[in-house]
Amino acid sequence: MSVLLRIENLSVDFHTDDAVVHAVDGVDLEVHEGEIVAVVGESGSGKTVTAMSVLRLLREPPARVSADTLAFRGQDLRGLSPRQLRAIRGGPVGMIFQDPMTALNPVLSIGEQIAEAVLLHQDRRDGRAARARAVQLLALVGVPDAAHRARQYPHEFSGGMRQRAMIAMAIANDPDLIIADEPTTALDVTIQAQVLQLLRKAQRETGAATILITHDLGVVAELADRVVVMYAGRVVETAEVHALFGRPRHPYTLGLLASLPRMDTETDRLDPIPGNPPNMAAPPPGCPFHPRCPLARDVCRTERPALLDLGDGRRSACHFHEELA
Ligand code: SF4
Repeated sequence: MSVLLRIENLSVDFHTDDAVVHAVDGVDLEVHEGEIVAVVGESGSGKTVTAMSVLRLLREPPARVSADTLAFRGQDLRGLSPRQLRAIRGGPVGMIFQDPMTALNPVLSIGEQIAEAVLLHQDRRDGRAARARAVQLLALVGVPDAAHRARQYPHEFSGGMRQRAMIAMAIANDPDLIIADEPTTALDVTIQAQVLQLLRKAQRETGAATILITHDLGVVAELADRVVVMYAGRVVETAEVHALFGRPRHPYTLGLLASLPRMDTETDRLDPIPGNPPNMAAPPPGCPFHPRCPLARDVCRTERPALLDLGDGRRSACHFHEELA
């Protein structure tokens, strides 16, 4: 599979009056054609900021984004104009956000908004065909009575239906990459399952690679091919999904897995990771996980572990990854 998106040494700082917050610190990430890559971590780990940096969706300033490489289909994204970036968003890259209300326009009907997304990326501006395509897309994502619902406004849709409309918009132009940021977090559990199934269907229909940002390992197990675990603005482990769940090679991943409810044990006790993620305006020296890590030793407090290639597509940033094996 060829590389669709390549990020090398991405860093993002937020400059405020009081401090500089190092939200992302030297992240490398590759997404291959057609694969689903989950980026997981607690809130504040830098996963959303990483994804938003791809299409320069962060306000600069206060954000300052730097990267050695930021390339989509071999095209360098770093020097693109706002107009060129808009042409990529909603075209070859579809976006799905946690709260569709912030992405939908409250004064335009759902059908008009999807039709607009279609028209934006068409050479021939055919309004009638775009409206018909909008209805077709709404039906595809499981909105019942799509022709009627297309004339309704966002406030007339439930949260789950709005998320379906967002997915319709994201796949309107047959994207190569879908970026989904916590797409099910705001939904109740039964609707979450439906939206996950729909995401899988949308991915199959379009063949698009997907970056799935989530703090929910249940969602990861359902959908992902490969997982990137982030902590304190850095990648701490990457692995194919079954390898990560079966044999984690970083204590932070182990902690995340221990806090996941299991169907195959009698206990329903969860073991959340003790402590809190660090203050990114003043991260701890050495390994940023050391204040919370049960395996931490002296070296962890002074030396930052590099993200090492362990073979078989696995990487881990832990001085003691071999012990975990
Ligand atoms: Fe824990 Fe040390 Fe590994 Fe960091 S480097 S995860 S503190 S054992």
